Amino acid sequence: MSLLTQSKGKESIAEAADRLLFTAKRPELVMERGAGMYLWDAEDNAYLDFSGGWAVTSLGHAPAVIREALDQQSAKLIHASPSFYNQPMLQFAKLLTDISCFDKVFFASSGAEANEAAIKLARKYGATRLGGAYEIITMTNSFHGRTLAAMSATGKSEWDALFEPKVPGFRHVPLNDLDACFAAISNRTCAIMLELVQGEGGVNAVDESFLYAVRKACDIYGLLLIVDEVQTGIGRTGAMFAYEHYGVEPDMMTLAKGIGGGFPLSAMLTKEKFDLFEPGDQGGTYCGQPLAMAVGHAVVQAVIQSKLADNAQIQGDYLKKRLQETGEALGWSHIRGQGLLVAFNLPMPCGAELVKHCLAKGLIINSPSPSVIRLMPALIVTQADIDRMLQLLSEAWESLYCERVEAAD
Ligand SMILES: *Cc1c(COP(=O)(O)O)cnc(C)c1O
Repeated sequence: MSLLTQSKGKESIAEAADRLLFTAKRPELVMERGAGMYLWDAEDNAYLDFSGGWAVTSLGHAPAVIREALDQQSAKLIHASPSFYNQPMLQFAKLLTDISCFDKVFFASSGAEANEAAIKLARKYGATRLGGAYEIITMTNSFHGRTLAAMSATGKSEWDALFEPKVPGFRHVPLNDLDACFAAISNRTCAIMLELVQGEGGVNAVDESFLYAVRKACDIYGLLLIVDEVQTGIGRTGAMFAYEHYGVEPDMMTLAKGIGGGFPLSAMLTKEKFDLFEPGDQGGTYCGQPLAMAVGHAVVQAVIQSKLADNAQIQGDYLKKRLQETGEALGWSHIRGQGLLVAFNLPMPCGAELVKHCLAKGLIINSPSPSVIRLMPALIVTQADIDRMLQLLSEAWESLYCERVEAAD
């Protein structure tokens, strides 16, 4: 019997959780299983998941594709060592470079690590090709992860005072502010790094004109354009990679979240001419881990074969249309996003409360900031799922509204 079923009630979860370092506020429930668009907690309550495991479970929860890949690979080889090639590693590197504008890939386990690799490669490029340039220009309101360098690259004002001194060499400029971006370029600059759609920042897309101008500036000054597609990559925005929407080729791209469909996996891709790492510069015990490689290969193949990027486009458009219809009378505004990375603004800063009310009704959504709701369901989502979500969401909104009116009385 598990620790949680032995003793009953909510205190027991709080008690058991007391052994964990407190790094995240979590509701007092334990997720036990998942299938498709749904999760179930230990008390067998179902939740329709419109956070998609945080933009991760591209194929839905516990998909057969991943279970079979794990079955087959784990029967053959779980781990050899980072000092050997393995078959799925070679296959997966071929697949990713075949379907993108890149020639080379480095594998890791998390988005932050992939960004760390991109930052290091950009510095190596600056050191060897740009006379020691090391500065990377990144955007305010961006999110690049939680290693110290990724936090330093991130443009979140709430983080400014945290873990000082940060890694030096990052300059933050507002997204889509060309003057500020150009003013930040100096002979110390080696790269410009951005998300094509800022995810954690609340779903803000880069302007086409900004991206073109940045690409041009990178060409003129010999700087690297790095796109962090950890959240936007692998079909989420309605194309396999978000850069395809713009007809602009970056020099480096990072992927994580959706690429593993729930298995810890990330990748950093670049072009042949930036193949500058030497043995010892970059690596890790789990870089190219066979299980992760087999899962990633299976997930990306399934996204291609089932045309899930197209589904993301179609369902994303339907989702935005339905949000418009439903939200108009409720005061929801700024409905935005690409494919299945969608957000809207609430008329008051009650996002966290709305998330709670939704959870009580069996719906998982995300509020990246107090007035913003973000939806990033699995790429397999259907119209029926979206209709059901909107019903639960409007009910939750009404119950929150009633509670507020009662409290005011
Ligand atoms: C989530 C995210 C990261 C960090 O990925 P982890 O796997 O949590 O380290 C980096 N960049 C973007 C754009 C993200 O959305």
